[in-house]
Amino acid sequence: MKIGIIGAMREEIIPLLEIFGKYEEISLGGNIFYCVSYKDSEIYIAYSKIGKVHSALTASSMILYFKCEKIIFSGVAGGLRQDLKVGDLMIATKLCQHDVDISAFGHPLGFIPESKIYIQSDPKLNEIAKSVAKRYEFDLKEGIIASGDQFINNAEKKQWLIEKFNADAVEMEGASVAVVCDLLQVPFCIFRSISDSADGQADVSFDEFLDSSARISANFVKNMVDTLLQQDNL
Ligand code: SAH
Repeated sequence: MKIGIIGAMREEIIPLLEIFGKYEEISLGGNIFYCVSYKDSEIYIAYSKIGKVHSALTASSMILYFKCEKIIFSGVAGGLRQDLKVGDLMIATKLCQHDVDISAFGHPLGFIPESKIYIQSDPKLNEIAKSVAKRYEFDLKEGIIASGDQFINNAEKKQWLIEKFNADAVEMEGASVAVVCDLLQVPFCIFRSISDSADGQADVSFDEFLDSSARISANFVKNMVDTLLQQDNL
């Protein structure tokens, strides 16, 4: 099987490269794809750079050029829901683009004609994630992720995201990866560990917890990959 693992920032994939150890480097479209041979499979790991455009390109490259059959995103996010604390890990049930606004034409916020507001992540991959969490007695949260090309660090905007999109966490890449995978019909799942609470202290919290939260996500993703490959061999 070929699996693609995407992070947005270098810090989000470093723990994965450390875990897998040996890799080949392939440059394409401004990204380096770290190719790991693992248990008769190939795993492509890359950080896209921040934002929806970059992550869409990376997901497209993984699928169309490297022929990845599953896409996993591993990274950090701002928590919107009260019970999401720094270090908590969540999977996205569905994702939306909170910065899409053509409401001037009567469309709902986040809606693009011939598309949809929310893209569902793959239920089978999410089930595997939950089974991994159960096995390790890990408290894996789930919820709606809103993505946009903005770092959210104010209480008003945070409340707006909750009210308009019912969002539980906010980040800058998940929904674009979701759109690409959905259109190209490749199963995907999005893991995000909370680095901040998208409030007035979000930038300070992000800087403090980026590395530790990224590691929490990466460690879980490694277990996820092991389970995925095990099931593939059954
Ligand atoms: N400190 C970085 C910028 C980080 S942008 C620099 O100076 O280059 C935040 C990154 O983490 C994005 O990739 C986004 O997906 C995620 N993220 C974490 N908390 C977020 C928040 N509160 N709002 C939006 N994105 C957030």
